[in-house]
Amino acid sequence: MSISQLAREIKESPTLKMNEQARLLKEKGEAVIHLGAGEPKSKVPLDAILNSAARLTTGEIRYTPTEGIPSLLKAIIRYHEDNYNKVIGPENVIVSAGAKQAFYNLMMSIVNPQDEVILCTPYWVSYPEIVKMVYGVPVVVTPEDGRYVPRMQDITQSVSSYTRAVVINSPNNPSGIMYPEDLIGELVAYCEKKSIYLIMDDIYHKLVFGGHSWVPCYKFAKDDSDSSRLIVVNGVSKTYAMTGFRIGWTIANRKVTAAMVKVAAQNTSCPSVVMQAAAVGALNGIQSGVENLRLMLENNCEIMMSELESFSDVKVTKPDGTFYCLPDFSAYTTDSVTLSKFLLKKALVVTVPGKEFGVEGHLRLSFCGTVKEIIEGVARIKWALDPESPNEIYIGDRKMRRDWK
Ligand code: PMP
Repeated sequence: MSISQLAREIKESPTLKMNEQARLLKEKGEAVIHLGAGEPKSKVPLDAILNSAARLTTGEIRYTPTEGIPSLLKAIIRYHEDNYNKVIGPENVIVSAGAKQAFYNLMMSIVNPQDEVILCTPYWVSYPEIVKMVYGVPVVVTPEDGRYVPRMQDITQSVSSYTRAVVINSPNNPSGIMYPEDLIGELVAYCEKKSIYLIMDDIYHKLVFGGHSWVPCYKFAKDDSDSSRLIVVNGVSKTYAMTGFRIGWTIANRKVTAAMVKVAAQNTSCPSVVMQAAAVGALNGIQSGVENLRLMLENNCEIMMSELESFSDVKVTKPDGTFYCLPDFSAYTTDSVTLSKFLLKKALVVTVPGKEFGVEGHLRLSFCGTVKEIIEGVARIKWALDPESPNEIYIGDRKMRRDWK
């Protein structure tokens, strides 16, 4: 069987693979704890369910305009005005099947073969693969040792005549860290000067913890014209716990949006109208669920941090938001893939290896599950790794003995 070189070279999504492994083990009745998850478990907003159900019961489920149904475009425009203090028109918006497809269609629309796209470690696992899928070249900027945020000069030194775009995800998956405001300001000014696209993946922008405030990129933009190269990607997956609905969007200048509409028309035609109706419900409905989710995550983050303190050799930077943290386990091993496999096998805890995000020796641990899962998950990791901890533990109803060093 002949498989394209591209398909052979693209990596599997490690996070989806972990989900699948956890699901299979759970199905077998194993007491798995999933600290690798990338989705909140809270209920989908009722307005989203009612709106999509109402749409479904019309029995008229057809294609929609590629860019999205007018009511969703309107809701996104209002969301953008409320959260970004920026007035946009429908010609600046395209809805997609999740923020992941938004990013893919965007890359398809602005990247030529061999163009370079700058990513900063730790980066979301899909960015480099998607850049490669459009025959672009991911250029990875690695901050100084132990930091999760690059310095401005780290980024500018990586810019070449082939640079097409810089991608920023803040608050960040996997570190949970938010980029400092002055760095965002410098980046906006630099990209404007150099005519480089600056892509802000803001999918976690509402899941920010007390004492921190997220600032929209437009605050720093001088170019308010329709040729602005500032692009925002966002969606309902994380903020509204609607990962399964697959609705995201892109806000860009008219030309980029039109190009994306052409691309999307040829790959999906449009996202499902039922799911678009759900997103309208979420965006226009009661918003209290978002704050409840944020508060729950903030509480879980505190618990995760205090549990991790029980390790004397694990360093972790406290997240500013999201539902992830990226502790440094390099005191145990720098091989994060082997470590993650070991923890799954011995302690039945799912983690995501830092290698997938460009940072070896780290593991991404998510705290979007229950408090019990966080406490027990970290305790199992400690049991598996720390010879100082008691060598017996219960995993489910099985008593396990540590018989390795
Ligand atoms: N960007 C980042 C940084 C993410 O973490 C994710 C989801 N893991 C996405 C985009 C994709 O989100 P969606 O579910 O809307 O495709």
